[in-house]
Amino acid sequence: MLQIPISVKEQIIDQALRELPNEACGYLAGSGETVTAMIPMTNADQSPEHFSFIPAEQFKAVKEARAKGLDLIAVYHSHPQSPARLSAEDLRLANDPKMIYLVVSLMESEPILKAFRVVSKVSTEVLIQYTGSDD
Ligand SMILES: [Zn+2]
Repeated sequence: MLQIPISVKEQIIDQALRELPNEACGYLAGSGETVTAMIPMTNADQSPEHFSFIPAEQFKAVKEARAKGLDLIAVYHSHPQSPARLSAEDLRLANDPKMIYLVVSLMESEPILKAFRVVSKVSTEVLIQYTGSDD
């Protein structure tokens, strides 16, 4: 179960809307399956259908997380016009079995977030629990 603060969920959705019509992307940092921070990244592809990170920014994100004693536990990206599941291309690129891959779909009236682990190109959904804001 991936735990995400509601405030982080809102920031992911804000970024995804801001970067329309292109896909937005970034990392979620924390430990185990508990997210405590988001690190927005630039979509080097500037594309509505795929994304990639800029290596220098990726390196900076790793360093930034480590400096705070956090791990990069998830990669997120948006699907402006497709469902909240990993595309064939996403599965092809998902090479880290320890990483959680989160997709936010904007194709419905409400944004939908879903998270997955990918082992040998097969994805398994990871349930998300939203935490905060009053408790
Ligand atoms: Zn995708």
